[in-house]
Amino acid sequence: MGSLHTDPHNNNSASCALNPLDPEEFRRQGHMVIDFLADYYRDIEKYPVRSQVEPGYLRKRLPESAPNNPEPIETILQDVQNEIVPGITHWQSPNYFAYFPSSGSTAGFLGEMLSTGFNVVGFNWMSSPAATELESIVMDWFGKMLKLPKSFLFSGNGGGVLQGTTCEAILCTLTAARDRMLNKIGRENIGKLVVYGSDQTHCALQKAAQIAGIHPKNFRAVGTTKLTAFGLSPESFRSAILEDLEAGLIPLFLCATIGTTSSTAVDPIGPLCDVAKDYGIWVHIDAAYAGSACICPEFRHFIDGVEGADSFSLNAHKWFLTTLDCCCLWVKDPSALVKALSTNPEYLKNKATESKQVVDYKDWQIALSRRFRAMKLWLVLRSYGVANLRNFLRSHVKMAKQFEGLIGMDKRFEIVVPRTFAMVCFRLIVPPAMDQNPLDEELANQINAKLLESINASGRVYMTHAVVGGVYMIRFAVGATLTEERHVNVAWKVVQEHAGAILGASN
Ligand SMILES: *Cc1c(COP(=O)(O)O)cnc(C)c1O
Repeated sequence: MGSLHTDPHNNNSASCALNPLDPEEFRRQGHMVIDFLADYYRDIEKYPVRSQVEPGYLRKRLPESAPNNPEPIETILQDVQNEIVPGITHWQSPNYFAYFPSSGSTAGFLGEMLSTGFNVVGFNWMSSPAATELESIVMDWFGKMLKLPKSFLFSGNGGGVLQGTTCEAILCTLTAARDRMLNKIGRENIGKLVVYGSDQTHCALQKAAQIAGIHPKNFRAVGTTKLTAFGLSPESFRSAILEDLEAGLIPLFLCATIGTTSSTAVDPIGPLCDVAKDYGIWVHIDAAYAGSACICPEFRHFIDGVEGADSFSLNAHKWFLTTLDCCCLWVKDPSALVKALSTNPEYLKNKATESKQVVDYKDWQIALSRRFRAMKLWLVLRSYGVANLRNFLRSHVKMAKQFEGLIGMDKRFEIVVPRTFAMVCFRLIVPPAMDQNPLDEELANQINAKLLESINASGRVYMTHAVVGGVYMIRFAVGATLTEERHVNVAWKVVQEHAGAILGASN
């Protein structure tokens, strides 16, 4: 089509007079982008799942500086296709099984589009009442779907907030816990506060502790073992606390995990909360990935005991069809968050806030400005409904079981840790013929790393790894929205082919 808004007098100033939010131009270009993305999803399987570019590829392809004159959307979209898409790792591909999923959906996308379209900055109630009120409502809806105790809902004097990420959710709750404690024992004691997790806890906790001013020596990553399937044992937790008390330190915060990142291990939250209660420790439950599954009655037991915790979070942008970013955080005592995170500058004062009848979410998070994230979660909940959302999660679990079954039929492989949700951790067993010492873990680890790289370099599927208890394992996480059983079967064939090649070559 070429340049569309050609000024007859000056070709170079094309469309410069056009308002950047001209409604008709918005409609035209918007439709083009939707068409572009619809084609992308239609054709997504033709791309290598893991991007195959080399570092710095893009600088070689793009101009050194920004254009002085406007360029038409047609040209820009061409460049997205030719220059950007090769550098995309296709998280929405049905052949994507890496990390944890980032499950997209039409409803999540449209909700994102609506909130971006309104582009409001809902820091307090007054700045967009619907943004605040919808957020409180969907957080109560979701809390009820998870059967969270009433004390986490607004109706029970708790409440929920949408954060960008789990990292922020943990930092905010840790900060709330810290200030609640320091207000009791005196600011000067900050150096004595101790934060607990396990050696499987996400590094988000360590980051939060660093930012919150917890002394690095007072960060406890309590050891786990295969015996407890890498869950944190309440006995080990208590021993760590007792040792710290002995040393004159003050236990502050435990981050327990439902579905650890390495192997989806589950910490026993009921017993852990019982221990924490004896010492006045704030318990946060990080269910970033697996929390979504707990809307299914058959998975709800994993969060039994949540009533003893102080806060609970999950990432709807992982396994709940909601586009990034959308971390759902519920707290029992919102006032602890507000006391730690609020400021009250003159230019934000208004009648609603002063009357204390409203939630001002700026006081529940780090930043002032905030996106209208509730919109996309609302669209997801309404467009699919609870029954369908459950079935969607179950279908992924079923496919993970299917993959597990395929592994079980091939003697060259083993499952490394029991599967709990929709992720399978497996590895190639190193045949004794390849080494004098068949138990040489280091060799096994190297061979599995080689296998994984060879699989991923093919571009046909993408998986990632973890090392748990010294064992290198390949993680196969089902959760991309477009994945079907046939993709799982093909993925397994790809694994077998590459394993055959590696074992053959090493003989
Ligand atoms: C993904 C994940 C996180 C980090 O989530 P962000 O939203 O990226 O901060 C934390 N904990 C667990 C268990 C996770 O799986």
